[in-house]
Amino acid sequence: MNPNKEWSRRNFLKTTSAAGTFAVMNPFSAFAQKTYDIDPKVAAIVAQSFAIDTHNHMDVPFDGAEFDAQAVPLSNELHKSGFKAISMTFCVDRPKLNYEGEAFKRFITTLDKHDQILRANGIKRVLNSRDLLHAKKASKPVVIQSVEGGHFLEGKLERLEFAYNRGLRHLGLLHDAQSAYPLGDIYTNPSQFGGLTPLGIEVVTACEKSGILVDLAHCSDEAINDALEKMSKPAIISHTGLNTQLGNDQRMAKMMMPRLISKQQAKIVAEAGGVIGVRTHLVETPTEMAQHIAALCDIVGTRHVSIGTDSRMAVQKGGNARGLTNQFWHTSAQGFFYTLVDAMLKIGFTKEEILNIGGGN
Ligand SMILES: [Zn+2]
Ligand SMILES: [Zn+2]
Repeated sequence: MNPNKEWSRRNFLKTTSAAGTFAVMNPFSAFAQKTYDIDPKVAAIVAQSFAIDTHNHMDVPFDGAEFDAQAVPLSNELHKSGFKAISMTFCVDRPKLNYEGEAFKRFITTLDKHDQILRANGIKRVLNSRDLLHAKKASKPVVIQSVEGGHFLEGKLERLEFAYNRGLRHLGLLHDAQSAYPLGDIYTNPSQFGGLTPLGIEVVTACEKSGILVDLAHCSDEAINDALEKMSKPAIISHTGLNTQLGNDQRMAKMMMPRLISKQQAKIVAEAGGVIGVRTHLVETPTEMAQHIAALCDIVGTRHVSIGTDSRMAVQKGGNARGLTNQFWHTSAQGFFYTLVDAMLKIGFTKEEILNIGGGN
């Protein structure tokens, strides 16, 4: 792995500080205005934004049954959404893992299928900050390859290099189920290790060296703090929300509570330079989502907040359409990011703030 290929959102955006100054002539924004009659002010911001969704799922069948990459309309949905990049993630711990090697097998199967989906859609993985800038200039949506949970490592650090060579640039350390080779405490489980395990610390350090962005979602506060202590580059918590923003559904709020971040913990992450993604859970309308984002921005500032929908940009035609990114705002014919930007403007976000949150931070 090349230690010079640093990968962090902040780093890849460092090279792009001039980007905000060029007026993007986005051919899609014209198309979008015709099709969906989008407010030109919204369209201009979407066009100028990096528009990154820091957590978007593309889970595929592990068994090879009925899979057709041609039938996954990723490109169309991405264009419609207004996002120019998604951290395209997947998990291997559902359904339950049963034997040694299974997590790695699922990992490879999914990456193979992601390759097919990307090929069928003419979409590339970005491998460094330059790729992302080029993609933005060309208004060509791209994906950042991500995985949710380090289960595939199965205690073998050398698999990080394999993953890097397959395009992985964003690793969520933990997910819902504990790995057979635990990396640390999961926020929905009782504390077992008091933070990260020694293996978890090794993985974090190795990711930093190789240029893989470390994602501390699903980590307990102790695990987050252990990681931050060892890290020299900023981390991301790709999908969470402030634990004061609980929406109207009490049952859901109770379920989500451990998955949300406190003001105090958010400040710790931001002070370490990190970025915190706001997810769509506990939100019913674009305005509510904008308010959740605003609440977190009030604590850490717009430079430390992103959008991490934890939705799914595309599924195979005929598949289960639950949780599709562009169907999230039932009332809106416009794509996800267009609608959200509109709502953010309406509650008082400035263009510059939206550009920060969209990926300019
Ligand atoms: Zn998650
Ligand atoms: Zn997820």
